[in-house]
Amino acid sequence: MTDHDHEPRGAVARHLHYRSLTHRPTGVWAIYITHPGNVLGQAHAPLIRAEEHLPTVLFQSGVSPRRFLGACLGCTWESEQEFAHVLLAVEAAHDHTHPGWRALPAVHPRPKSGPAKRWLNQVTAAYPAGWFARGGPILTIRADRADRMPLPHRAPGGRGYDLPALPPVHASVPATPAPSPTASPLIPALEGRTPHARLHAA
Ligand SMILES: [Zn+2]
Repeated sequence: MTDHDHEPRGAVARHLHYRSLTHRPTGVWAIYITHPGNVLGQAHAPLIRAEEHLPTVLFQSGVSPRRFLGACLGCTWESEQEFAHVLLAVEAAHDHTHPGWRALPAVHPRPKSGPAKRWLNQVTAAYPAGWFARGGPILTIRADRADRMPLPHRAPGGRGYDLPALPPVHASVPATPAPSPTASPLIPALEGRTPHARLHAA
């Protein structure tokens, strides 16, 4: 998969190896900055091996354009494919850590002001019980459709990712049937020209 097969496998081992290097040669894989295991301000904190499968992302140091691998903090799983966009690596990691996530309902982001508690109650009701405590992602409808950035630690509870809602092209991915659009009280407020409106019409 890489030219660095002598490196350890898995996000935790690779990142500890990366930290141990005085001179970091081009191409060494490490956890991407701000993603789980390499949070800003905690870059040298003890890297606790998770007790469960939790998604993160590896990047290849010094390589441009960037290359990413999906990875797991709870085991040595890494995506077989290298990705050019960090989102695709994060999505692959969630296929490993949280199967079924692609079928979850898309919701509006947490309101910047107003009834955040009501929003949280609705979102929690729309997602599987205990989902966010297990580090599961939330799928949000971004105001800017070009915004495809995965946001680590931004799901309710601060463990999981906030992922941009899947565009229609992902609808062909085999998955369990998505819940009825009317099942979530959050979706009818969706503007009519968004990707999800087209998903519903399909
Ligand atoms: Zn795992």
